[in-house]
Amino acid sequence: MNTDIGEPLSLAETLSSNKKPHKNRVFHKIKPDVDNVYLPLPPFGSKAKTGEWIVKTPIHWGFIFNEKARPFVCPGFGCAMCEHDRAVKTTLDSLNKSTDPELYDLLKSYLDVHQLKITFSMNALDQKNQIGLLSIKKRMFDSLVQEERNVSKYGIKFASSSNGTWINFRKSGTGTQATFSAVALREDKEVEGAIAQVLKKSPISAEILARMESEAFDLSRTATILSFEQVKQLANSIEDYEVNQDAVDAVFSNLGKNDETASFDTSSFEGSKAGIGNDPLSKYF
Ligand SMILES: [Zn+2]
Repeated sequence: MNTDIGEPLSLAETLSSNKKPHKNRVFHKIKPDVDNVYLPLPPFGSKAKTGEWIVKTPIHWGFIFNEKARPFVCPGFGCAMCEHDRAVKTTLDSLNKSTDPELYDLLKSYLDVHQLKITFSMNALDQKNQIGLLSIKKRMFDSLVQEERNVSKYGIKFASSSNGTWINFRKSGTGTQATFSAVALREDKEVEGAIAQVLKKSPISAEILARMESEAFDLSRTATILSFEQVKQLANSIEDYEVNQDAVDAVFSNLGKNDETASFDTSSFEGSKAGIGNDPLSKYF
């Protein structure tokens, strides 16, 4: 049998799969000043073999298409946006805030929005039993690394399907005063007649693992990937620290079937090939 020939979808299925391919996927959000409790899920899809359950991605923000934020992955060395933004930063650093307050504020607010941000993304289950993509920033990630060290002595591995751990992510305050914590949940248990706080180990059910095939994200591609040339078009269109919306439309309207999707591109998602890894480890630790 020729393996390049597939089974046809019905016409109705064809229409719905062309429209919003991850319409029903969930993007979790860390809310400030409250408990955000999530269970990180095991490595999955193309990451099942490598064991990576969390991926680090440098992302450019500040572009809007069809009224939605359109973050994209920094293509790396030679990126036109990075070069552009570095020049803005150099100009900002050379300004004297008191003699040039207007320009200073303009550049500063431009950089607040546009400066490259490092995102760490994982598949996670929330307390409403929803699978989705959870993205955290560097300082939250640092806290998670610390907590992994704390719990590893109890034989706990985050994102393990056999004894995963619920984690409470908390963000309080703003700016440089903000604090971040990622702490494994403990529960009260009677140990030798006394109440002790014991880490809550949580095997991930077969039902959740099965649902990951259609509800989890392939972490090899959590945000839109643009070519160097497309990024250059965006960078060249910025004038007086303002994004030219026509240029943004020109780039993002040419991305094909994901045009109407949310801000993260999962077009490479391969649900049918998904496997669940059992041995989470991360190269960032
Ligand atoms: Zn870049």
